[in-house]
Amino acid sequence: MKIYKFGGASVKDADAIRNIVSILSNDLENKVVVVSALDKTTNKLEILHKMYMSSDKNLYNQFNDIKAFHLSIIKELFVECCSEVNLLIEEIFNHLNEKLSEEPNSNYDYEYDQIVSFGELLSTRIISSYLNMCKIKNLWVDIRNVIKTDDNYCQAEIDYDLSKGLAQQKLNFTGVNTYITQGFIASTTFGTTTTLGREGSDYTASVIASLIGAESVTIWKDVPGILNADPKKFTNTHVLPKISYKEAVELAYSGAKVIHPKTIKPLHNANINLYVKSFIDPSVTGTVITHTDTKIVSPVLIVKDDQILLSVSPKDISFVIDDRLNELISILDKYKVKANMIQSSAVNFSVCIDTTYNVHDLITELSDMYNVKYNDNLVLLTVRYYTDDILQRELKDKIIFMEQRTRSIARFVIR
Ligand code: ASP
Repeated sequence: MKIYKFGGASVKDADAIRNIVSILSNDLENKVVVVSALDKTTNKLEILHKMYMSSDKNLYNQFNDIKAFHLSIIKELFVECCSEVNLLIEEIFNHLNEKLSEEPNSNYDYEYDQIVSFGELLSTRIISSYLNMCKIKNLWVDIRNVIKTDDNYCQAEIDYDLSKGLAQQKLNFTGVNTYITQGFIASTTFGTTTTLGREGSDYTASVIASLIGAESVTIWKDVPGILNADPKKFTNTHVLPKISYKEAVELAYSGAKVIHPKTIKPLHNANINLYVKSFIDPSVTGTVITHTDTKIVSPVLIVKDDQILLSVSPKDISFVIDDRLNELISILDKYKVKANMIQSSAVNFSVCIDTTYNVHDLITELSDMYNVKYNDNLVLLTVRYYTDDILQRELKDKIIFMEQRTRSIARFVIR
């Protein structure tokens, strides 16, 4: 049995969904198909959530826009026989509508999960119904009844023991060889919806694989595999045919968008191969992430946009490493902010972080105790297996705010 994951780009419109049929037909192996929200629906739901929290009177324009997009895809896919799927989708939008008519709770992250999770419920209902219509018999599964988490909304942590029993019960392939289910979303033991972090559907796929002992996970992308650099930003890119789990984690952590950073651990622990393949041309081999000693020999470039560099110094000149490091890290932790690169001196702590909605609250809290300066609109460039020529080329005309090098990896915070 295997796990397939289709992200937003692979389900961005009716044609893309038809393409999934061609990938799945004639494939009789037992499989769980994990699907993200259609196209940019999660971004649209994030805006809806913000509008809801701020009681924006244009909230229903956004709601109607999301609804119209889904209905237009149904209309294209189902032509005449769409009454059943329309009912299912109408019911989901009614639930969302009910949610929006309630007073928002003050817990921003809780409300985020209750609203943004609708994207995957909608996409999987449409795709499951469409596949059934195309004679790819499948069962729609609400993954919230399988993957159980704590109540750390927006970044929920999975309870593996509890989820394992449920997965083995609900995904046992009795009478069906294909399940369609949601990535990204889960629920607490009390059934309250949670999410696993943006782009979390890859992680869902790997968690399910480890829970049911699948032999592989395939992530279907709009690129021919994992490349040595983002083709939208660099020329002459090439596919890395085989990489180790460790290399994949490093690439994902540095900002390679091709897989979610948390995806690798469950697969590594259970010895499950991860394939990254093109949904545009499934005949291309792609990349396999596995146990391997194969070394990457050519430079790999990773760009992480939307970075802020904070420079923090204790007001009383106390030493950062000796006296204040724990405190600083725990303040970052409190705001769920991940440090992408850290550098410190005696009385200074610099940290490069993603621009998130709560970064200004973090700066306000830090400013109570520390002198804080920051630069935003920065980019974190990581060059693995660098050469001097590559660095010279990439850093030309750039302002470098912070840099670090080991013998094989160079990282720069630049504008
Ligand atoms: N739909 C979610 C997102 O866009 C999860 C995913 O696609 O992986 O972040």
